[in-house]
Amino acid sequence: MAVIISIVNQKGGVAKTTTAINVAAALGAMGKKVLLVDLDPQGNATAGLGISGGAKRDLEYTTYDVIMGEVRPAQAVVATKFKGLSLMPSTQSLAEAEIKLLKFENKNMQLKKAILQIRDEYDIIIIDCLPSLGVLALNGLNACDRIIIPMQCEPYSLEGVAELIAIVKRVKKSTNRNLQIMGIAFTMVDSKLKVNREVMRAIKTKFPEDIFFNTEIPRNVKITEAPSHGEPIMYYDPASKGADAYARLAREIARKCKAMEEML
Ligand code: ADP
Ligand code: MG
Repeated sequence: MAVIISIVNQKGGVAKTTTAINVAAALGAMGKKVLLVDLDPQGNATAGLGISGGAKRDLEYTTYDVIMGEVRPAQAVVATKFKGLSLMPSTQSLAEAEIKLLKFENKNMQLKKAILQIRDEYDIIIIDCLPSLGVLALNGLNACDRIIIPMQCEPYSLEGVAELIAIVKRVKKSTNRNLQIMGIAFTMVDSKLKVNREVMRAIKTKFPEDIFFNTEIPRNVKITEAPSHGEPIMYYDPASKGADAYARLAREIARKCKAMEEML
């Protein structure tokens, strides 16, 4: 039975999608059966795995159809050319769900209902959430067991993450009792920047120490290039610092998932 992890941060551009794609690919390469769910109308995770332009238009079903309850989730899942990795793609149409879902009685639980149907078929399901805290994002928070928060080392990151954690606590109290934060991962870290280090130290004092992953993701130009080639970093440039960092983060995540399975 898969551990379901949502990658969440209501701020855009903090490396949610980058983390989702590269962790998913690294876990797949480690021999896990992984499903990446694209829960963002921007479809960046879909494009980053090589489905863009015509291939995107040719998709029969997407996360939109699944979340609206119109097709079984397995019908929307497509194989990728990367080891162990399947994808539930998304397109701009998903934006309509944000409005249409409001009519649903269980509007925040639609994704959970669907994902439970395919949970047994994977070891890990990763949901790449959109930058918002609206109904779609709440579907992401309710469908998962754990969340990972990518965070940039900037002074104003703190407020957003504090707000997010408050919402996670609320969801946990009301509709997703077992929800826990798996960890916060610092992304786009520039260790040459002294201010980056100082901000990181300041941020760390605000949270329990064990909430942070040991792995920090460095700013790395190869990570920026990989999506336009439709490949995770470990395939695009396996020798890059970015590939190494995401492989280490994936191993940390795998260990935490294993500890969690033993608890179940
Ligand atoms: P989000 O999904 O949170 O909006 P993205 O994953 O799309 O963020 O990342 C935003 C931008 O930053 C993208 O252009 C991505 O390629 C770039 N990026 C992410 N992580 C890194 C990194 N470690 N080094 C360099 N560029 C990065
Ligand atoms: Mg994104």
